[in-house]
Amino acid sequence: MADKQHSAMIILGSGPAGLTAAIYAARAGLAPLVIQGMEPGGQLMTTTDVENFPGFRDVIQGPWLMGEMQAQAEHVGAKMVYDYIASVDLSKRPFTLVGDGGTLYTCDTLVIATGAQAKWLGSESEQRLRGQGVSACATCDGFFYRGKKVAVIGGGNTAVEEALYLTNHSQDVTLIHRRDTFRAEKILQERLRAHPNIKIVTNAEVAEFVAGEGAAGLVGLDLRDTVTGAVSRIDVDGAFVAIGHAPATGLFAGQLEVDADGYLLVEPGTSRTSIAGVFACGDVTDKHYRQAITAAGMGCMAALDAERYLAMAKYQESAAA
Ligand code: NAP
Repeated sequence: MADKQHSAMIILGSGPAGLTAAIYAARAGLAPLVIQGMEPGGQLMTTTDVENFPGFRDVIQGPWLMGEMQAQAEHVGAKMVYDYIASVDLSKRPFTLVGDGGTLYTCDTLVIATGAQAKWLGSESEQRLRGQGVSACATCDGFFYRGKKVAVIGGGNTAVEEALYLTNHSQDVTLIHRRDTFRAEKILQERLRAHPNIKIVTNAEVAEFVAGEGAAGLVGLDLRDTVTGAVSRIDVDGAFVAIGHAPATGLFAGQLEVDADGYLLVEPGTSRTSIAGVFACGDVTDKHYRQAITAAGMGCMAALDAERYLAMAKYQESAAA
């Protein structure tokens, strides 16, 4: 690979947002360069069954879906680069990105699709049982717990929304929160408390995710009372960790405007960030929906916004000449 390369458009990130942006930009003749990042394919690479991406009647696999998206993007002319960007300079044009190995990338437009990662509690048993009863996305995996017992861990809007969502599938939902007051909005708390199928356990943290015999996956949670220290067990088939997400925006710190939670701010209804020519899409700018399909939709928006920005810049250049 050359040590220096220029592209009209660079797309940073290769989840559903980045790859959809790549498909649209490539079909517009922009030959976008997709820099895949640390986790090519994004969060769907660690999701197994996907049942809610439109167009597939049967269950599909997350890694398969991402492979198809990448193949489609390449087929229409997007170029993939397996590199990790160490620094970005958006203060002058063209924008500059420096790869881990020193490669210098420059571009006229940058589409940021670096995503976000669910936060985990960090215990060994949680890590071991991820995908076997432990999940960080009720919308993605709740369906697999129809008629079973589930728990949600957290006390913010996400946790409360996930607990309410899970009542569509389960008659036995327990919300576990480490304090006795919630961050979640009042109206959500009221809905939570009023729901007949939700139990609320406060002042409790998960001491251990308990596995069944053999390959049975999760069968329970050992809960530690944060006041007394006493440990007790509850039986559950599924546990959803909902303690927040961290958007991958470190590269842009001090350069692009972010909200109080660190998500990139875009002009409402567009993908335009605080710097002209820089666009954001998917989970890096979205803390509300966080779905593959919404990320893909935003990726489409970003490609269209970037294409229009380039066309306008070209027009202004030729008008000035
Ligand atoms: P959040 O508001 O940061 O809440 C995270 C929750 O997880 C808190 O209750 C926190 O407990 C708990 N927590 C964090 N670390 C923990 C740990 N190690 N062990 C146990 N519990 C832990 O995150 P969020 O609910 O994902 O929301 C993020 C942002 O998105 C917020 O601004 C939220 O309003 C927004 N959001 C909005 C909507 C909506 O408007 N419909 C939906 C979802 C999210 P403590 O309270 O004790 O710190």
